Amino acid sequence: MPTLIQPQSLRQRPHQRRGTYFVQTWGCQMNEEDSEQMSLYLKQIGFEATESIQEAHVILLNTCSVRKKPEDKAFSMLGELSAIKKARPDTVIGVCGCMAQLRADEIRRRAPHVDFVVGTGQVGAIPGLVEEALQKRKFQKRIELPERKGATVEEMPKRHVGRESKLKAFVPIQYGCDKFCTFCIVPNTRGRERSRPTVDILEEVAALASQGTREVTLLGQTVNSYGKNMPEGKVPFSQLLRLLSDIPDLERIRYTSPYPRDFKTDVIETIRDCSKVMEHCHMPVQAGSDELLKRMKRLYTVDGYKEIVRDLRDAIPGVGLTTDIIVGFPGETESEFQDTLALVQEVRFDGAYMFIYSPRPGTPAADMEQVPQVVKKERLDRLMSLQNRITCEINQSLVGQLFEVLVEGTSHRNPGTLQGYSREFRMVHFPGSATLRGQLVKVRAVEAHQWGLKGEIA
Ligand code: SF4
Repeated sequence: MPTLIQPQSLRQRPHQRRGTYFVQTWGCQMNEEDSEQMSLYLKQIGFEATESIQEAHVILLNTCSVRKKPEDKAFSMLGELSAIKKARPDTVIGVCGCMAQLRADEIRRRAPHVDFVVGTGQVGAIPGLVEEALQKRKFQKRIELPERKGATVEEMPKRHVGRESKLKAFVPIQYGCDKFCTFCIVPNTRGRERSRPTVDILEEVAALASQGTREVTLLGQTVNSYGKNMPEGKVPFSQLLRLLSDIPDLERIRYTSPYPRDFKTDVIETIRDCSKVMEHCHMPVQAGSDELLKRMKRLYTVDGYKEIVRDLRDAIPGVGLTTDIIVGFPGETESEFQDTLALVQEVRFDGAYMFIYSPRPGTPAADMEQVPQVVKKERLDRLMSLQNRITCEINQSLVGQLFEVLVEGTSHRNPGTLQGYSREFRMVHFPGSATLRGQLVKVRAVEAHQWGLKGEIA
């Protein structure tokens, strides 16, 4: 049986060890990064991480609303947590993230054992909410989001500065979205688009690099729209990349996900010119038919997308290109789906995240005519088999080539094997000593797989 810490001792020792916490995360990299922030905040007020939700004194569920499945999982876990709360009433339970932002009242109604619900713009409020839950035991809800463009610095989610040393780190540079694609709930869950002040980002990345981080991934819903809504002193995304490139000790810069319409020549030139900006682009296309793109309210055409790909490949030979594709969007006809297959066939992406469309209540697409599930599944199978074949063919064509790999550590399955990503975001496995962790090594590909490449240090 876990040892329970009494609420009195939790209150009396604010900055000593006060108990343990457990954060469950669903969803995207932005959520992963938010969860890391939550962990740092909890550590700052005296809690330590535990692997066991059964033993944790503070439990946070960081939820996702992008599809129905993670929402169902979160509600199911909330149901299970009522037993923990009954057995240990001192346990603090908080629900965070996109589902908390959208469905705070429903969470309160369906899970009355929850102590607080906190939205995506209020992560910095978590330490205070935990303290209040420990003291008052009164339900709290914090879901305010900035309403307008050009939010001030005070309206940005608060960032924790002290971090543990890590090889790779996510750094949010932009929050929210103004695009309102008809299938997407993000503008509702994360609010209007707003960019972090450049100086804050530079300071954070410099601090990370000085603590041993070799690679950063800049995060934003439409990351290359960075700077557009800055109240003053606009800094375009390409300029931010160049400024970050000057940070000593930092080796690699990645970013996700750019919006095609905003992928302009200046960004392509920056990737070409700055050796620290990796030759990989994950650019969601979503569909290969102009009619579908229009119904999705994506603000580009298939030809416009292909033109960007052409420019990228002309300027940066060998650039890695990956994408997101939605299958079974409302009203998708067989002929429109064939257009998506044709695009995949023509562009030959290195890889793709392929999803079945999932209606999100509150979005325009949820009220459109839906494609039967069986048709969606069958189309997803066809798309995946095409993309997987292309990925294998591309990987096969790379055997014999040299790649620069950042060594992340040993493979879980095979301790004698090191793993890491190439500059073009290809997973590479190769034999070597664990002491190489954190180093950039040249590896020659000797074997191709669907997941990536096997190689040997050159
Ligand atoms: S660009 Fe579209 S899909 Fe991406 S976050 Fe914004 S609304 Fe959602």
